[in-house]
Amino acid sequence: MHAIFDRLIVERGSKPKVLVVDDQAVNIRLVHDLFKDEYDIVMATNGEQAISQCDAQMPDIILLDVVMPGIDGYEVCRILKSKPNTKNIPIIFLTSKTEDAEEILGFQLGAADCIAKPINQLVLSARLKTHLILKLQTDALRSMALIDGLTGIANRRRFDEQLQIDWRQCIRQEQPMSILMIDVDYFKQYNDLYGHLKGDECLVQIAKILKSVTQRPIDLVARYGGEEFVCILPNTDLKGAVKLAEQMLTKTRTQAIPQNKTNENSIVTISIGVASTIGTHGRSVDSLLEAADTQLYEAKTNGRDRLSAIKI
Ligand SMILES: [Mg+2]
Repeated sequence: MHAIFDRLIVERGSKPKVLVVDDQAVNIRLVHDLFKDEYDIVMATNGEQAISQCDAQMPDIILLDVVMPGIDGYEVCRILKSKPNTKNIPIIFLTSKTEDAEEILGFQLGAADCIAKPINQLVLSARLKTHLILKLQTDALRSMALIDGLTGIANRRRFDEQLQIDWRQCIRQEQPMSILMIDVDYFKQYNDLYGHLKGDECLVQIAKILKSVTQRPIDLVARYGGEEFVCILPNTDLKGAVKLAEQMLTKTRTQAIPQNKTNENSIVTISIGVASTIGTHGRSVDSLLEAADTQLYEAKTNGRDRLSAIKI
């Protein structure tokens, strides 16, 4: 059990974050002293604070006192379970109300567990760990489902999800948004010449190059399928997108992955279709994607190893 836990922590690269909510400072201190070495402890002393801490800190789990002045624990649970960003955070109620009806209410509200006060340290420690293992495993599965197995960058599913989120955001803020459609030139020949293993290596290298050029955390590079990649650039106008695409072209050339086509010494290159627009109500993002695709086709027919761009 602990081996699983340790492995999950290593894979994740950081301690689990536990939010402790209690109106009695002494109770918070107790939990803090118990777990401070093992977990990253965040605290709140009332319901409002608990909710704002959740939004700001995104804890992995919450230890939630039921009886508090103002918004009580049940209400905090109701609110957190109703919000998309916090609904998946497991909640453990800590309560001195030990009647069945109280416990059942907690579970009905979506709690993962209820633990009786006064706290038995061993019970709390064991149950907290069990729920954290479940949480970290769920997180790991979810992130695996959104990552391309070969290149380690986002996959098509992640791209589809993120595109809708970013597009809505750009509409709300009336900001520009750009898409890059990127394709490895003559990749079929590359595979035929060097074999699929080498082909895979080439895709890994290209993914790395594309990723290294996009510096902002809001930019997303994804594998679109086969030798095709796609990049979402929120809050980026055509000029900014073209600049980034040029860097991708240059960096790919600089990498000089050999590609000896018939009778010539040559290197692997990419072609990029760039499309940019301003987020507008009532418009679907599909037209932007189609425009980028058309521009990619333009870049290919104009001789490859280049970009073609349009503002729509
Ligand atoms: Mg209390």
